[in-house]
Amino acid sequence: MRTIFEPFRIKSVEPIRITTREERQALIKDVHYNLFGLKSDDVLIDLLTDSGTGAMSSAQWAGVMRGDESYAGSPSFFRFRDAVQNLMPFEHIVPTHQGRAAEAILFSIFGGEGRNIPNNTHFDTTRGNIEASGAFGHDLVIEEGKDPSSLHPFKGNMDLDRLAAYLDEHGDSVPCVMITITNNAGGGQPVSLENIQAVSALAKAHGKPFFIDGCRFAENAWFIKQREPGQGERSIPDIVRDCFACADGMTMSAKKDAFGNIGGWLALNDPELAEIAKACLIRTEGFPTYGGMSGRDLEALATGLTEIVDEDYLRYRIRTNAYIIERLEAMGIPVVRPAGGHAVFIDARNWLSHVDPLQYPGQSVAVALYELGGIRSCEIGTAMFGRQPDGSENPAAMDLVRLAIPRRTYTQSHFDYVIEIFEELHGIREQLTGYEIIWEPKLMRHFTCKFKPLGS
Ligand SMILES: *Cc1c(COP(=O)(O)O)cnc(C)c1O
Repeated sequence: MRTIFEPFRIKSVEPIRITTREERQALIKDVHYNLFGLKSDDVLIDLLTDSGTGAMSSAQWAGVMRGDESYAGSPSFFRFRDAVQNLMPFEHIVPTHQGRAAEAILFSIFGGEGRNIPNNTHFDTTRGNIEASGAFGHDLVIEEGKDPSSLHPFKGNMDLDRLAAYLDEHGDSVPCVMITITNNAGGGQPVSLENIQAVSALAKAHGKPFFIDGCRFAENAWFIKQREPGQGERSIPDIVRDCFACADGMTMSAKKDAFGNIGGWLALNDPELAEIAKACLIRTEGFPTYGGMSGRDLEALATGLTEIVDEDYLRYRIRTNAYIIERLEAMGIPVVRPAGGHAVFIDARNWLSHVDPLQYPGQSVAVALYELGGIRSCEIGTAMFGRQPDGSENPAAMDLVRLAIPRRTYTQSHFDYVIEIFEELHGIREQLTGYEIIWEPKLMRHFTCKFKPLGS
């Protein structure tokens, strides 16, 4: 089939307000060229994030009405907990209002001055929570994961030799080992089941608990089914269960692969750690049978978890990214290959080779996509990761622009429009200039920093 078959019908629509280029040039200037500052009404195609921006199903909306808002012991909590445990067999499920709240609780336990925490690549909020506790986060993804053109099937894999050396070197200062599936900050690339199990074995051999940041577990399982020898005939839920069975716990943003607009959880096997986590939860989020969520959120997630592992959905989801990438590549635009799970990544450093990495080529592309086409994307590069804990500035491993694809929200013709805008931008790319940052906060600067185009 050349046409991507979206395996759903549209029951409720949201109008998109059409803006002109002149309007958009003024709007982006007003917010100091930071796309997080734009009003979403002023965006035509919002690919800033796939987080909480998906469309819920009619079954999820029916669940919203069923939500029981009791403070303690709501049946909605038990439906949510059972849906999680059906896929991720952990003892204790601690609901939180989103993923970073689960991280904050986890690192209130495992973080602290001088501690060292490895991951394939820490996501920005994970790193932010680790660093805020005084600990350091280190990224040990395989070399292929840093090469935008490598066609390795599992570019999110942990480098096992480096992890073994890291555990020997840092010894007691390592409180836990983490892995992120799929590897969001590294291009949405998957991690193989074999690699997850090998990381688990290494962590165990060193006596360290092993945690999975499971935000995109279903997309990761789809890639395992497609690409990993011996996995092709297995069901997605079975693959998912294997991924988590070898871990001691997980953090989750339910705004990703649980079809939620909000939500998250922390899961743990260790009863003592679960007690500490729940005490922290009550102080910061809420009672353990709702955490930071309402009963209706819990219901929407319980149903979302059954829908996200549907193979027709996952096929359409992953095919959409591949479709965009094929067309951009055909024009000669450098992209991260192969297509990741939740997003398309443009290699802006390579595409705008005339813009120095310390002048944020990714930001330059992101602003141009907005001005030209009203498309909101996100720089994942030196603006996001370049600032070091000591305040100095280094180029990030890559300068990418992420087009994150909201779940079940846009159609193939929306993506054909996005492709048209890229075609136009490709023709004028040499006219794009770099940016400088004229104001930034201390942590996670990319959300609020102010940019200025160079030479303006
Ligand atoms: C989104 C995300 C988080 C944080 O979750 P929130 O729900 O946004 O707080 C953590 N890790 C990864 C890999 C993510 O994609």
